[in-house]
Parts: sequence; C-alpha cells; structure tokens
Amino acid sequence: MQTKKPDIKSMNLTELTEYITAAGEKPFRAKQIYQWIHQKGVSSADEMTNLPAALREALKENCTCTVLKQAGVQVSAQDETRKYLFWLEDGNMVESVWMRYKTGNSVCISSQAGCRMGCKFCASAIDGLARNLTPAEMLEQVYRIAADTGERVSNVVVMGTGEPLDNYDSLLRFIALLCSEEGLHISQRNVTVSTCGLVPNILALARQKLQITLAISLHAASQQKRSRLMPVARRYGLQELMAACRYYFEMTGRRITFEYSLFAGENDSSEDADMLCGLLSGMNCHVNLIPVNPVKEREFVPPKKEALLSFKKNLEKNGINVTIRRELGSDIDAACGQLRKRYREGRCIT
Ligand code: SAH
Repeated sequence: MQTKKPDIKSMNLTELTEYITAAGEKPFRAKQIYQWIHQKGVSSADEMTNLPAALREALKENCTCTVLKQAGVQVSAQDETRKYLFWLEDGNMVESVWMRYKTGNSVCISSQAGCRMGCKFCASAIDGLARNLTPAEMLEQVYRIAADTGERVSNVVVMGTGEPLDNYDSLLRFIALLCSEEGLHISQRNVTVSTCGLVPNILALARQKLQITLAISLHAASQQKRSRLMPVARRYGLQELMAACRYYFEMTGRRITFEYSLFAGENDSSEDADMLCGLLSGMNCHVNLIPVNPVKEREFVPPKKEALLSFKKNLEKNGINVTIRRELGSDIDAACGQLRKRYREGRCIT
C-alpha cells in the first residue's frame, strides 16, 4: 500500500525543520520553505526560487502542499462582502467569507466540510458532516482570499461551516500556524473561535491559555429552550457550559462573547431577556445579538425591530455589554448560518 505523502503546509516550523534535516538539508532551508508557504502564499516548489534545484525536486517527489481551488466568488451589492467557494482536493467544497470592517479585513473560515451538530436553525447542518478539514485547508482559505483581494487579512473568525471544537487538534494547529512569526503573524487577539458548546474541549482550550476570543453560541438562556434549538445542549447542559465559560475566563483572562440569535416568538420575549440577564449576571462578557437569517429549509423568522431593540435595552439596563451584529452579505447568503452547498442544487456560483 502506498503511504500518504506528508503535507508540508500543515507542519509547524519545528516539524518542518526536523523533516528537512532528516533528509540531509540545512535547518535554514526549512525556514525558507515555511516563509514561502505561509508568508508568500506559494505552494509549488518550482516557485521557491531561493532553494537549490535538487531540494525543489525532492519536495515535489516526497511531499504534498495542499492547495484549494477557487470554484466561485459572489460579491455583495450591499457592502463588498465576498463569499468564496473552494474545491478541496478530494472533491468536497467549503465556503469562506471576506468582510471589510473599519478595523481591518476579516475572513470567516470553515473548519469542517458540513457539520454534525444539527442546530435546528442552521443551514450548515442540513447535509451532516462530510469530514474534518486539515490545518492546511483552513489556512488555505485565508491565503487564497488574501491573494485574490490583494489586501491584508487582519482578523480571522472560525465561524463558517462546521464546529471548530469538533476538529480540535487541527484547530489548534491552524491557530499556531496562522499566528506564527514566520507566517502571517496574525495576533491571537484577532482570532475568534465560535462553538456551539462542546464542554470538554472548551476546558481543554482554556488550558492552552491562548489569547483568542471564544464565542459561545448560546441562543437560549434556559436548558429546555436551548436543547430544543441545539441538540448539543442535551449532551452538555447549560450549567455545565456556563461553568466551562467561567473556567475559560479564569484561565485566559479573556472575556467570553455570547452569540444570541433571535428567533421571533421563540427566544425574543422580555422573559427570555430577563432569563439571559440572570444567567450572565456578574460575568465579564459580551453579548452579540443576531436577528436570525432566514434559511429556506428552516421555519425561523427574525424579530421585529422593536422586539430586537427592547431585548437589547433590557440587557443594557442590567449592565450587560451588548451589541447587535451588523449582518454583512445577507444578499449573497453569506451571513451566519446561510453557508451551504449550493452547487448541489445546480446553482453553482461564479
Ligand atoms: N459551530 C460553530 C460555528 C459555526 S456557526 C458554532 O455553533 O458557534 C456560527 C454562528 O452562526 C453560530 O453562532 C450559529 O449558532 C449561528 N447561526 C447559525 N445559523 C444561523 C441563522 N440561520 N441565523 C443566525 N445565526 C445563525
């Protein structure tokens, strides 16, 4: 049986150095290769012009270097937001979104092809999980988009398709590569990871003491309501989740962001707001309210503007830090929960 060639794009500098020196090369060659891949976005050994020809040949022969191929891009007419569709090398597809903010450009990446968490309101859950992405496949989404826009990426949010903490090891490796000095050197503080609440991995992540922002998809402040919307809540209850959040803050000093999507008639009443205040009381956190983005196969609708504003006011009155998420790219199905494999419906984007 043929063994799989190692992917040098998923190796950190130490591993790449070991790999290269084991093949009889000087350690500084590893740094050169690493910089080609992670700073200059180059994946073909032929383009690594400061390497000796023999090394370039050896790389081509013995390793792979994952590349995503752009299958399409849609540009929002409202706000310049760009949604990309990429081919993975095995024929799966993933979507990523580029957004321009005053504070810099942000890329929202997918961590899995599909998702197995089954949240009732989310488009990504419809077809289930195809597979985890490798660290290189996560990085490539950022690198391809930086190359296509020709602009620097300053923020990365892991909030596209998939549950990042369900692909934990690759996620950690991805963050390390993304933030490495010899790579794009994005500050950990500019990286956000969003989770539906896989408690054991929140605890494990806390122990890593990273400076990233952890966003928790909360969406309801009672165990009963939350488990109706999110099957994961039946496995990890609300109290357990909140304890994990407090632990995360203790370990990292990083304030948690709670995402609360509002579904009219489901979780947007003043009792719901009161319950949320009770749940978060005394916590150093931030709440992001997101009016649900309608998904064709799902019945949820966003609240009326007044309901949204009064929910927000209720939280503010209780001293909770709260913002309403500005929804970018909703005209191209790029907003939260709308990423989906459109090509299956024969509506491949170009
Ligand atoms: N699996 C991770 C990250 C992907 S989802 C998580 O659950 O956090 C990113 C965010 O979009 C989550 O907060 C998710 O609950 C939210 N979301 C999913 N579908 C949505 C929809 N239709 N409208 C608004 N937000 C949605």
